Amino acid sequence: MNNSLHSIHQLLNEIETKLHEDDQHLLTDLRQELDKVMLHASEESTHPATPHRDKASGCYRFGDDPDYYCPHCFDNLQQKISTQRLNRQRRVCPQCRSSLRPLQ
Ligand SMILES: [Zn+2]
Repeated sequence: MNNSLHSIHQLLNEIETKLHEDDQHLLTDLRQELDKVMLHASEESTHPATPHRDKASGCYRFGDDPDYYCPHCFDNLQQKISTQRLNRQRRVCPQCRSSLRPLQ
């Protein structure tokens, strides 16, 4: 990501030298948009919107988020519901009452 960002900035600098003065503002706009995208991208990597299935719990997890979420509520209702630990193996969703266990 950082490498491609570096190349993008190099390209922008190169375009800047070739671009007509009247069009330079386009590059300024582009740089601003790029900064927004990058800011969003770094948020995404710590709190991504797409979950991954945690094999050890059977729950969904989102990036660095320490919580374990109910996959049924997320898939069916688009809700992030934190599951509660029942015992060493099982967790339960307080909303749909699904019990979640490690994937085989
Ligand atoms: Zn649920």
